[in-house]
Amino acid sequence: MAVYQGKGVYGAVAIGKVSVFQRQAAEVRRVRVEDPAGELARVEQAKAIAVEQLSAIHEKALKEVGEANAEIFEIHIMMLDDEDYNDSIRSIIETQGVNAEYAVAVTSDNFAEMFAAMDDAYMQARSADVKDISNRLIACLSGSGSEGDSGSEKMIVCADDLAPSETVSLDKERVLAFVTAAGSSNSHTAILARNMNIPAVIGVGQAFLDSIKDGDLLIVDGHTGEVYTDPDEETVRRMEQKQAEDARKKQLLQELKGKENVTLDGTKVKIFANIGGVGNIGAVLANDAGGIGLFRSEFLYLESEDYPTEEEQFSAYKKVLESMAGKQVVVRTLDIGADKQIGYFNLDKEDNPALGFRAIRICLTRPEIFRTQLRALYRASAFGDLGIMFPMITSVSEVEKCIAMCEQVKEELKSEGIRFNSDTEIGIMIETPAAAVISDRLAPMVDFFSVGTNDLTQYTLACDRQNAKLEPFVNTHHEAVLRLIEMAAKNAHANGAWIGICGELAADTSLTETFLRMGIDELSVSPPFVLPLRERVRSLNLRAE
Ligand code: PEP
Ligand code: MG
Repeated sequence: MAVYQGKGVYGAVAIGKVSVFQRQAAEVRRVRVEDPAGELARVEQAKAIAVEQLSAIHEKALKEVGEANAEIFEIHIMMLDDEDYNDSIRSIIETQGVNAEYAVAVTSDNFAEMFAAMDDAYMQARSADVKDISNRLIACLSGSGSEGDSGSEKMIVCADDLAPSETVSLDKERVLAFVTAAGSSNSHTAILARNMNIPAVIGVGQAFLDSIKDGDLLIVDGHTGEVYTDPDEETVRRMEQKQAEDARKKQLLQELKGKENVTLDGTKVKIFANIGGVGNIGAVLANDAGGIGLFRSEFLYLESEDYPTEEEQFSAYKKVLESMAGKQVVVRTLDIGADKQIGYFNLDKEDNPALGFRAIRICLTRPEIFRTQLRALYRASAFGDLGIMFPMITSVSEVEKCIAMCEQVKEELKSEGIRFNSDTEIGIMIETPAAAVISDRLAPMVDFFSVGTNDLTQYTLACDRQNAKLEPFVNTHHEAVLRLIEMAAKNAHANGAWIGICGELAADTSLTETFLRMGIDELSVSPPFVLPLRERVRSLNLRAE
């Protein structure tokens, strides 16, 4: 047995088998072959596997994200059968006497280029699809495309690091825990693990990865950040006890369901939940959150092969609002860039992405994307209590532009006779020091603030939140961050706005009292933290010195 130390990002214990995360981007080499007919047969076999995989994904998507979003996988199956596509692969294999992988890769490049050059936006979008199906086919040819194959056993996914796009594409039904060699606790992968309610340990180091292989028994202790390889019987027993203890605590917390979030002296606070998509709603309801304080809408874009249409977004927002049955749902407009990269946005590579072209800066520069999202949001506003929130605000003029865009969209919908709630609350994230410092100017313009402590900490302390090496330098309770939050709270209240916290710090129960004393009105946390936070709130007495 060996023990590796990392950082626990979600406190729970997992005991299970290793699945080493495989990146799809296999490098394809051109190889001369003796038997082109054999290569053609391999292509047919790989196609059959790919169709089987896509059908399974289609079925799952139908259940989880609805028909409109699932349709893409049907299109992929049809594309795999396309005559021109198949003719091209066959002709390259036969005329050049080369391997199937190479023929698929060249066909993929040619077709993707051809689609990209077309005038029609729909056809242009097929360029990404052809690359996608070709990558799948290449993975099947090389035997690494085995997703959805081996039964339903949940595994512990081990990787060097996971990008948010990789994390969302994992089959959640099969993930028992995450362990990454690199990574930092405020990275979006860590946040996703918390949202998904699964044990996760990050930053265990490369030596751990070098010591494991698929199928090895592993124990992940998300409380202590310890990871045990080849555990002995005594450790397995001890960890099973810890799991049972966790389950007992969880059970006790269930008794808090339906109870108020009120301190002993009668101060009330709203406890909302953070989500990344429709799929998290079950956890929000199960944990009795009072609303949704942060819907990270960029995950709709990350999970999509192309810009999600107005209709697709409308249906997702409407579903969330309807499921929350009149409770408030705050949707944050698109916040990509930095660590959340999306291929089809074609963003330039930047030296300092956290200080780069991200979030509201992209939306204000590419208004067609922003307008589509705002139209979908306002249309959905007729189906519940929506709040719209803008990320990465640094100036008054950005807020003015956002509000002007909202007004324009409302006018459009009115003239089209489409129903919407004209009183939809508008808010901004306070996640840059600039926004906190000028919060007296920003507060009169909006209905609410929500403090993004993850970015506010990164920018105030000048510590890249993605950089695991900086963890020793990040004091999450730094006085500078707390003073900025307090300043924003005073300015919000002086101007009739409410203020919440939706960064990870909202779940830190050692700060709950501090936040309530500042007058914070709402705390929005990953669903599994709602009840522990309620427990903490109910134990506090703000009158006591
Ligand atoms: C934050 O910055 O605190 C926040 C809530 O947004 P994100 O973590 O998605 O950047
Ligand atoms: Mg942020």
